[in-house]
Formats: sequence, C-alpha cells, structure tokens
Amino acid sequence: MAYEFLPAGSCHCAAIQVDLVLSTAPEELRVRACQCGFCWRRGARTISDPDGAATIRAVGPEALIRYRFGLRTADYLVCANCGTYVAAVQPDELPIGVINVGGLGVPEFDELAAEPVDYNGETVADRLARRRGYWMPIGFAYSSGAQPAPVGGR
Ligand SMILES: [Zn+2]
Repeated sequence: MAYEFLPAGSCHCAAIQVDLVLSTAPEELRVRACQCGFCWRRGARTISDPDGAATIRAVGPEALIRYRFGLRTADYLVCANCGTYVAAVQPDELPIGVINVGGLGVPEFDELAAEPVDYNGETVADRLARRRGYWMPIGFAYSSGAQPAPVGGR
C-alpha cells in the first residue's frame, strides 16, 4: 500500500511544492536531525523512504538554488525566493535524496521526534554508499515545461 501526499508540503512562499509517495505510514519512518552546520542552523528535519519517491515541483530549475559544501557530494536545494531548505539530492544516475519535512511543513511529521545524526568523519565512499542504501528516488517536475536539469551536472 502506498501513502500519497500530493503535495505533502511547500516552502514558505509556496514556489516549491513536494509530492511524497511513501511505502509506509509516516510514523513508521525515522525523522532525522542532521547535526552538520548547515542542517543544524536551519533546524532541518529530514525523512527518506528508499521504497517511496518524492517529486519536487517548481516553475523551472531557476526556482531552486543548489548549494554544495563539505565533501560536495550532494546538492542542498534551497528556494531561490524564500530561502527554505527543501531537500538534499545526490547526483546519481537516478537522483536520490532526503526531504526536509520540517522546512516544508508536512503536518504528518510535525509531532514525530527527530533523531540527531552526525555523519562527520565519513569518507566520500562511505557517504555515497550510506545514501544509496537510505536515500529515496527524487524527481523534478517544472510547470514551465523545462527539462529537469541533471543534478550536479556542472
Ligand atoms: Zn519559497
């Protein structure tokens, strides 16, 4: 059974919306509070469901800022208008990522406690392998008709 939230939430200005299709009920997923400097400062609360899928909707690719730091293995997607941290996406052949349900105001996760996690000290290989086991498929849909840009293709 799939749990569909269409859309699940949006950034503060509503320019970015995210659809979630989950393989399990929200309360069965772990909400994580990454303790890296970027996520901690923003109070990020992220989820992933490797057997589910997320679709990030916007007018076009310019609606999202792609920010990289640290090991530079993922793009942190931030709304270009209101600054909401939306998702982190790793540039695999099929993009995978985590969704910031805190920033997007997804009500189904509001009451769930977030587990602090700290991935400081991981090697690049460890990090990519961990994400491939845990991060979820991410798609992009642009209402302008623009083609989704290859994630991290710079
Ligand atoms: Zn916004």
